[in-house]
Amino acid sequence: KPLLTVNNVKLTIDERPILRGVNLVVNEGEIHAILGPNGAGKSTLASLIMGINELKSPDEGEIIFKDKLLNGLEIYERAKLGVTLAWQEPARFEGITVEEYLKLSGRNNPELDVVKCLELVGLDCTYLSRFVDDTLSGGERKRVELASILAMRPKLAVLDEPDSGIDFASMEDIANMIKTMRENGTTVLMITHREEIAEIADRATLMCDGRVVQTGNPKEIGEKFKTMCVKCEVRNPELV
Ligand code: ADP
Ligand code: MG
Ligand code: MG
Repeated sequence: KPLLTVNNVKLTIDERPILRGVNLVVNEGEIHAILGPNGAGKSTLASLIMGINELKSPDEGEIIFKDKLLNGLEIYERAKLGVTLAWQEPARFEGITVEEYLKLSGRNNPELDVVKCLELVGLDCTYLSRFVDDTLSGGERKRVELASILAMRPKLAVLDEPDSGIDFASMEDIANMIKTMRENGTTVLMITHREEIAEIADRATLMCDGRVVQTGNPKEIGEKFKTMCVKCEVRNPELV
């Protein structure tokens, strides 16, 4: 059963076509990977799904979540429907501790266990009293943001490069975290440019140059990525 449907989405920024008719279906309960080289348009698609960076509507096409059209909705309206995004570059919240942040994120989760959420992202309980600001490294902030999604248990979590910037995060840790999200009822759309991360998924979609090349099983899509997207990167060397 489709949870998120992206239907022929086109977007041009400064006269440059960034998305050229993207089609994607994410089914309820699945872990779906979007694989593609740098510059493929993955983060732009994530922004459109969440409505951030002034990207509230594509130029053409629809983004549909549970029979509801997301085009034009504000971020908080999408969040209310159960859509969340973990940014490629995690946010800072001056004056808020990790514990406060996780409790706020998990305020509607009756089973909230903030220590468990931290453990799943490789942080111990000493982080609870730290502030979610510049005193955390980029990698630590990224982990805290992923912990906040574990706390929140949204219907859909879009994770933009969950592995990037996290030094020494093993594949196993990331797999564990994502599988826990799924066990908690969250459907995961995971963006990555590493094919070994995509293999955690049930299905994968290959994006290249603003288009979906193919959706299929992650191993097959990973192979295709390795052979095909080398060409993309040669064609767009400034994007690598
Ligand atoms: P990916 O996440 O797959 O690496 P992005 O979605 O970040 O790709 O970027 C796709 C293309 O869109 C890139 O060429 C990028 O330079 C361009 N782009 C993204 N956002 C903007 C923007 N706000 N203004 C101009 N160009 C942008
Ligand atoms: Mg990029
Ligand atoms: Mg990106």
